[in-house]
Amino acid sequence: MKKRKKIALVAHDNRKPDLIEWVKYNRDILLKHKLVCTGTTGKLVEEVLINDKIIESHELSIKKLKSGPLGGDQQLGALIADGKIDILIFFWDPMSSQPHDVDVKALLRICVLYNVPTAMNRSTADFLISSHLFKGEYQPIVKNYQEYINRSIQ
Ligand code: PGA
Repeated sequence: MKKRKKIALVAHDNRKPDLIEWVKYNRDILLKHKLVCTGTTGKLVEEVLINDKIIESHELSIKKLKSGPLGGDQQLGALIADGKIDILIFFWDPMSSQPHDVDVKALLRICVLYNVPTAMNRSTADFLISSHLFKGEYQPIVKNYQEYINRSIQ
C-alpha cells in the first residue's frame, strides 16, 4: 500500500457517534488519505468534515458506496478482493443483530483472507492510525492461494 492510503470507514447506527468522534479527532491525518464509506456513514463523515468548515468539498476524497444493508458491505468486500482498500475501520454493533449480518461476516472474512488491517473498536483504530507503518508504504503479506486455485476436482 502506498503512503496515501485507501481507508474504508463503516459504522453501524449505534456506533456512528463513536466513529464520527474518532474521525473528528483524527481529521488532519484522515484528510491526507482517500476515504471509502458505506452510504450513511459516508454522509455523516462528509458532513462532519465539510459542514464544520474543516475542509472545502473539492479537497475531500470520499467515495460513498450503497448503504450497508443495501449492499454497501458487499461492495466494500468486492473492493477488498480487488486490492482497492488498504485499511478498514469498521465499528460494528456487538449489542444488536443486523438485517445484513451475513454481509458483515463476509466483509470481516474477506479482510482476514487478504490480510487487510482492520479496526473494530476505537482503541484498535487509535493504535492503527498512530502506528509508524501507517505513515509510509507497506506491503501486507497475502497467502499464496495458487495451490487452492489449481486443486483437482474429481
Ligand atoms: P451505513 O451502513 O453506513 O449505510 O449505515 C453501515 C453498515 O451497516 O454496514
